[in-house]
Amino acid sequence: MISAKGYAAHNQDAALELYSFERKEPGDYDVLIDIIYCGICHADVHQSKNEYGNTKYPLVPGHEIIGRIRSIGEKVSKFKEDELVGVGYFILSCGHCPSCITQEQQFCDNGITPTQNGKLSDGTFTKGGYSDCIVVNENYVLSVPETLNQPGAAPLLCAGITTYSSLKHNKVGKGHKVAILGLGGLGHMAVKFAASFGAEVTVLSSSAAKEDDAQRLGAHHFVNTSDKEQFASLANHFDFIVDTVSAKHDYNTYLNLLKKDGTMILLGVPPEPSTLHAHALTGKRRKVTGSFIGGIEETQEMLYYCAKHKITADVELIRPDEINEAFERMVKGDVKYRFTIDMQKL
Ligand code: NAP
Ligand code: ZN
Ligand code: ZN
Repeated sequence: MISAKGYAAHNQDAALELYSFERKEPGDYDVLIDIIYCGICHADVHQSKNEYGNTKYPLVPGHEIIGRIRSIGEKVSKFKEDELVGVGYFILSCGHCPSCITQEQQFCDNGITPTQNGKLSDGTFTKGGYSDCIVVNENYVLSVPETLNQPGAAPLLCAGITTYSSLKHNKVGKGHKVAILGLGGLGHMAVKFAASFGAEVTVLSSSAAKEDDAQRLGAHHFVNTSDKEQFASLANHFDFIVDTVSAKHDYNTYLNLLKKDGTMILLGVPPEPSTLHAHALTGKRRKVTGSFIGGIEETQEMLYYCAKHKITADVELIRPDEINEAFERMVKGDVKYRFTIDMQKL
C-alpha cells in the first residue's frame, strides 16, 4: 500500500482535518500521481456537509486535480513518469455501455465511480484530491498542457469541462444571447467560454460587487438580480440561460427571461427541489435541460482549447489549512472565482 495524507471531513458538522490513509498500489494500467493543486468545487461543500444524504465518512473531497506522474504500471502506454496530468470528477466507468462507447462516460448506464465518495468493488470509498497523491487507471487521466497556468488549470477539470460541455452540446455561439446565472466557479468559466465561442454574454448575479469583474472576464452586460426594474426589462430576451446557482432558487422567475424556444441549462444542483410552473414553459415553448461534467475525450479537447486560447480559472491560491475558511466563504458567495489548494504545502 502507499501511504497518503490529506484533509478529510469526519461528519457533516465537523471541520475538515488532516488525515492519514492508504492508497492501493498501482496496478498494471494505473498511474500514481503526486498532486500539486486541487480546486474547491461547491460539490465538495455539498458532500462534506452531507447535503445529498449519501456521504460516506471520512470523506476526502477533491476532483479538480493537477499533478505529476510519480510512477506508472507495467502496461501503461498513454503516459510517462513526470508528465503533467489531471484528474476530474470520475476515475472509472463500465467502458462498454452505449454512453461509454461514445465517450460520454459521465452518463455510464452502470454508473461512474466518482473521484470522491465513490464505491469501489472492495466496498471501500474513493478518496479525492485534497491529498498528496492518487492512483488512477490511465484511461481516466488527462494530459495537461505545460503552457497552462497550473493553479488556474486545476478548476478546468470540473468547473471548466462542465461549462464547456454544456455550451458545446447546446451549440451556443455567435448570434446567441446567453445569460450566466451566478458568478462563482462554474459561472466565471461559463462567461469565459461563452464569450470565446462568440455569444453575447450577460451575467445575472446577486452580488452587485461583481460587476467590474464580469466585464473583465468577458461578459458584455451585467445585471444585479435584485434590481427589479432592470430584471423585468429582460423578459423574453435570452436564447440560453446557464444556471450555476448552488442554493435553492425560483426557476420560474428566470425562465421568463427566455425568448420563444429558449433553453435553460441547469448546472447547479441545489440540495432541495424547486417547483416548476408549466406556464413558464408552455407560453413560449421554452425548454429546461441539464448537463453533467463531460466525457474524457471532451475534457481533453477542452484542455487543448484552453491552452490554445489561454483560458484558465481566476483563482485564489490557499494552503490546505485554509480549506475550512474557504468553504465558509464559498457558501457566502465570497470567492473570486475559485479556490485552488496548494497541495505541496500539505
Ligand atoms: P460557487 O462557486 O459557490 O458559485 C455559485 C454561485 O451561485 C455563487 O457565487 C453566487 O453567485 C450564486 N448563488 C449562491 N447562492 C445563491 C442564492 N441563494 N441565490 C442566488 N444566487 C446564489 O459554486 P460552483 O462550484 O460554481 O458550483 C455551483 C453549483 O454547480 C453547485 O451546486 C455544484 O454542486 C454544481 N456543480 C454541478 C456540476 C455539473 O456537472 N452539473 C459540476 C460542478 C458543480 P452570485 O454572487 O453571482 O449571485
Ligand atoms: Zn465539481
Ligand atoms: Zn458505461
